Amino acid sequence: MFTVGLTGGIGSGKSTVSDCFAAHGVPVIDTDVIARQLSVPGGEVLDAIRAVFGATVIQPDGALDRAALRRRVFADAKARHQLEAILHPRIRQEVEQTLATLAAPYALIVIPLLAETGGYRDVLNRVLVIDCPEELQIARVMARSGLAQDEVKAILAAQAGRAERLAVADDVIMNTASQEALCAEVALLHRRYLALAAAPPP
Ligand code: ADP
Repeated sequence: MFTVGLTGGIGSGKSTVSDCFAAHGVPVIDTDVIARQLSVPGGEVLDAIRAVFGATVIQPDGALDRAALRRRVFADAKARHQLEAILHPRIRQEVEQTLATLAAPYALIVIPLLAETGGYRDVLNRVLVIDCPEELQIARVMARSGLAQDEVKAILAAQAGRAERLAVADDVIMNTASQEALCAEVALLHRRYLALAAAPPP
């Protein structure tokens, strides 16, 4: 199946853009959603996370304490790699299984850390990057989450920069205007992706 990978920094507009594609009937596979689904109590992922990080990242009710885990891996690259080693192969497997069940001209796969991990290139026909100035990202995330400016800046600093992300892009949406303008850009890209998906492979 023809696939488009969607990426962008925090607050760049990935969820908004994927909603616009979904409104055109495009199946959306979101690796963040899969990560959350995989780490429910009773699953092997939670067991593996507990084995590596201990009970401090598990809530009293047995669910994953995402905030604690985020704090744990945020400042510690080794811990982050350990978590990625648990999650990434399983997410990837889930993505492939879902793709195999879809009947659509093309699918959108949301991969927030595409530029950081370098994965998925072999299953993606195209990479779409949502870009916007960092000040806008910060303002949008602060408005959405209630996080302080410093906290949002720290998250941005841990992610790939705009230039790194743009370097992996086939297509770019600059999300500086209204949400209506954003969805209008998606409509144009949707038409282009339908045409590309229908074209015989080179
Ligand atoms: P991401 O999924 O990349 O973190 P979102 O799509 O959730 O980003 O967008 C971040 C926040 O900014 C959301 O609250 C969203 O509604 C808002 N937002 C996104 N694009 C625009 C826009 N063009 N104009 C105004 N608000 C926007």
